[in-house]
Amino acid sequence: MNQKSKTTEKSAPSKKSETGETPVEEKNNSDNKMELINTADSDSEKGKENNEQSKPLKKQDMDQNKHHSELEEFFISALQDIYYAEAAIEAALGKIKSKATTEELEEAMEDHQLVTKKQILRLEKVFKHLGKEAKKKKCDAIDGILKEVDEMVKNTKEGSMTRDVALIIGAQKVEHYEIATYGGLLQIAITLGHDKVADLLETTLDEEEETDEILTEIAEEYVNFEAKME
Ligand code: FE
Ligand code: FE
Ligand code: FE
Repeated sequence: MNQKSKTTEKSAPSKKSETGETPVEEKNNSDNKMELINTADSDSEKGKENNEQSKPLKKQDMDQNKHHSELEEFFISALQDIYYAEAAIEAALGKIKSKATTEELEEAMEDHQLVTKKQILRLEKVFKHLGKEAKKKKCDAIDGILKEVDEMVKNTKEGSMTRDVALIIGAQKVEHYEIATYGGLLQIAITLGHDKVADLLETTLDEEEETDEILTEIAEEYVNFEAKME
């Protein structure tokens, strides 16, 4: 009895309930963004004449404004990784959503599939802003997590609540990988002064976090409890 089942008189799994909740919406909270940490600020009018005592400079700081820094390259590469991952996630959601036992979970996965499609387009916008072509780079991590989700589905009975427990945990592993990734990329975008890109990444980060919370709610409201009873 370890979860906060709220008076669950709906002890039936509600295979076909209504819940037209749309847990995801495009939100652009651009105002709670942290200040720009302009690492590459123009050294012209800042330090009077000797601009080398003001900053702990590395050797190749001169072209810090150029788009060829190592961090910039790393950033692009990480974006390619998550771009691959989002496509893999979108395809996986399309396949496994119907394996859910409850309507709630199936709908949550369906909603997130739609959100994921938008996130893919949003990443394409990110590449465009950076003047790069949208390319995918194989992400072994997401391939591994998705493989594990497949296995968990196979190892649980169709129509059981334990199946949904497995799907929720699997989906949350995916979301947490994304949250870690977008959280880091957002900070790098801010550091590099890519404001617009930072906004876009933050929107996606918010969506992933929201999805994670929805999944937790579904589990704690009744799925875990029902699974325990079967
Ligand atoms: Fe995503
Ligand atoms: Fe990856
Ligand atoms: Fe996601």
